[in-house]
Amino acid sequence: MSIDGSGTERARCVLAPNPSPMTLDGTNTWVIAEPGSPSAVVVDPGPEHEGHLRRVLDAARAGGRRVALIVLTHGHLDHSAGAAAFAAMTGAPVMALDPAHRLGSEGLAAGDVLTDAGCELRVVGTPGHSADSVSLLLDADSALLTGDTVLGRGTTVIAQDGGLADYLRTLDELRALAASAGLRVLLPGHGPALTDPAGVLDYYIAHRQERLDQIRAALAAGARTPAEIVAVVYGDTDPAVRGAAESSVRAQLDYLARGGDPPNPPAAR
Ligand SMILES: [Zn+2]
Repeated sequence: MSIDGSGTERARCVLAPNPSPMTLDGTNTWVIAEPGSPSAVVVDPGPEHEGHLRRVLDAARAGGRRVALIVLTHGHLDHSAGAAAFAAMTGAPVMALDPAHRLGSEGLAAGDVLTDAGCELRVVGTPGHSADSVSLLLDADSALLTGDTVLGRGTTVIAQDGGLADYLRTLDELRALAASAGLRVLLPGHGPALTDPAGVLDYYIAHRQERLDQIRAALAAGARTPAEIVAVVYGDTDPAVRGAAESSVRAQLDYLARGGDPPNPPAAR
């Protein structure tokens, strides 16, 4: 199934033409609107690419809607670089957790409920991939927009501005949310939608613990620098994402050096 044009009743993906080993098929820009709503919310305009932003505008304006709000799942450039240009095209403000990425007066905080799309989007704080990462719960579709906290393929890296203790806590909280909100689909920032949220989150949690075990073993075997550990633990990794692997290793070493902040008890499953 193609990613572009995929989604749910209220969320539609416009795929940006910026594929790479880090961005998978490209950045997913999400247009959110209740059927019949006069306004739409655009999540992650993506790179500053005129053709892409025009396609997003066309999708958002379908049926005579206007773009009421732009929201960023986090500030990384593959999600945010086009935000200022898209704001100029639409007159809509840009909301983000990090004030540096906002345009307009209003902030954004975990727990906020945005209603500009004619349906509710609840802001869920999901730090870890980056400190400023949020997810958006689209309850009407039992869907969660995850940004880069959960990806449509593979697993997420912990970026320089993220943290593993936060990320493990986030995964546990999302696993609990998957059950309590009855999530049916995750709509990620890259890659295809995921229709088994609980299963995917279980896999992510297990994968992180497995990587930590591998790093403990590499340390016990004498590896010391992040590069040495990457060579042992991520030996099968595409050289193009070696830098990201090193970033994840640094996050894991930092976590272990602090004695490991035990994550919350696992959600009932
Ligand atoms: Zn991204």
